[in-house]
Amino acid sequence: MTNYSSNRKLYFGAGPASLPEEVLQEAAAAVVNFNNTGLSILEIPHRGKQFIAVLEEANALVKELCGLNDNHEVLWMQGGGRLQFCMIPMNFLNQEKTAGYIDSGHWAHEAAKAAAYYGNTQIIASSKTENYNQLPLLPESIDPSLAYLHFTTNNTIYGTQWTTEPKTSVPLIADMSSDFLSCQRNFSDYGMFYACAQKNIGPAGVTLVVVRKDFLEKGNSNLPEMLSYAQHVKQQSLLNTPPVFAVYVSLLMLRWTKRQSLAFLENTNNEKATLLYTELERNSLFTPNIINENHRSKMNVCFKAINETAEKGFLAFSKNKDVEGIEGHRSAGGFRVSLYNAVTLAAVKKLIAFLQEYEQVYLKQ
Ligand SMILES: *Cc1c(COP(=O)(O)O)cnc(C)c1O
Repeated sequence: MTNYSSNRKLYFGAGPASLPEEVLQEAAAAVVNFNNTGLSILEIPHRGKQFIAVLEEANALVKELCGLNDNHEVLWMQGGGRLQFCMIPMNFLNQEKTAGYIDSGHWAHEAAKAAAYYGNTQIIASSKTENYNQLPLLPESIDPSLAYLHFTTNNTIYGTQWTTEPKTSVPLIADMSSDFLSCQRNFSDYGMFYACAQKNIGPAGVTLVVVRKDFLEKGNSNLPEMLSYAQHVKQQSLLNTPPVFAVYVSLLMLRWTKRQSLAFLENTNNEKATLLYTELERNSLFTPNIINENHRSKMNVCFKAINETAEKGFLAFSKNKDVEGIEGHRSAGGFRVSLYNAVTLAAVKKLIAFLQEYEQVYLKQ
């Protein structure tokens, strides 16, 4: 394998996001010759024993890393995070029921919008009028008759993150797309959680879904097979041809996550975020968008410059230093630096040094 480390850029994109170089090398090798089969991972049959082994190992690693037992089912699905926004109400809501949604950002809002096509939705809390620059305040009590309560653990575009779950007896469903396996959570408490892979756990093209069996049993059964979780579970993610390569790269990421350990990754993610937010508060040219420290995302750090000159100036300056992917989302503007698991502490320290260097350049202009 050629070593291309020296050409790699410092990538802080929000998704598809950075992957560890060792995972990229393993994936590249498997494209040429998968496990010495004499076939590419792109060529093996999805119902053959080679791929069944990939699926089984990936499922077992998800359960192990999340501390789950056989009460939960693991699925690998297509259609991205957004298909889940539709499948959740199709499977767990109907015209007689109401589902609760916490509106804490763009994706949270889109999830609630999709559900409204299938039944009643109740927005339990929203920070839309604050432009999502903080987490919404949760009510003291949540109607226990709701079919489920949906929330988004990390708000990728605005840069806020829940560190704890809402307290309720209602089954919890969480979109963990942008912080799954970045920190410990009480995964076994969830009725369901899901994550499109391309933020923290793999490449685009596959979405991980984990659903608790007793919750699934209460779901709707009058659905076309492709839209039914129960059918996907029955077929063990092989209802139709799965995205074999995307699942395989996700397995490589799960193995990598286990080698690092979730505890180590969580510590490193805390350290990366603390260093960056501290610099943004110190630096005279930049300020973090999220004022409340307890609401700040450790995965997506959003900030703005004091003026357009500094904004454009730092973008050009950092590009020149081979930094990529720090522009804010098209709807939010400013900057967004994503600090997913694959982004190293060393990369964050380099970015901080560039922020400091640019401040000096700017002040001397
Ligand atoms: C990116 C993202 C999505 C959308 O995922 P797609 O795979 O593009 O459909 C949904 N939710 C969150 C929290 C995200 O970050």
